[in-house]
Amino acid sequence: MSEPIRIHPSLDNGVQPGSADFAGGTLQCKCQDAPVRVAVSNQIAHNHACGCTKCWKPEGATFSVVAVVSRDKVDVVENGDKLSVVDANATIRRHACKECGAHMYGRIENQAHPFYGLDFVHPELSDEVGWAAPEFSAFVSSVIESGVKPEAMDVIRRRLTDLGLPPYDCLSPVLMDAIATHLAKASGVLSR
Ligand SMILES: [Zn+2]
Ligand SMILES: [Zn+2]
Repeated sequence: MSEPIRIHPSLDNGVQPGSADFAGGTLQCKCQDAPVRVAVSNQIAHNHACGCTKCWKPEGATFSVVAVVSRDKVDVVENGDKLSVVDANATIRRHACKECGAHMYGRIENQAHPFYGLDFVHPELSDEVGWAAPEFSAFVSSVIESGVKPEAMDVIRRRLTDLGLPPYDCLSPVLMDAIATHLAKASGVLSR
């Protein structure tokens, strides 16, 4: 038997359920000295494993774990001077610690974007337990762009399915429908 594929340290032993009454926590970067702290004062939504090449992931992980929360619930509370935007031209401006590289939050500044108003955060950067559990896996085929062999994809998709994280090669149907609905309303195809 070969080694089971490593998806992400917080998922490899099974997905931990969230708590219904959880109301947020504090994200902390990986720096021992003067870590950046970001308060998230709400439960997260649409938590998922992401295979894209842009999301931050810990050493050895094939996928990131990322979720959204309303941007007005995200506050940099300590050492925000260590943050810088990874790629100012990207749709999601990922604010990362310049020293350890952890992405503390990703923000969309384009007000016409379907996900404007939502920030992207990595719940594993918090010690609190109760964050809503991952529900699906997105951009699965993109892990090939990070060096995963195409032959491994069957095993990876099966593992994700076994973990209860149905694999999609874009976002989940719910989110893709939300994007399409937003665009259809913006263009007038769908009345508001
Ligand atoms: Zn740091
Ligand atoms: Zn991603």
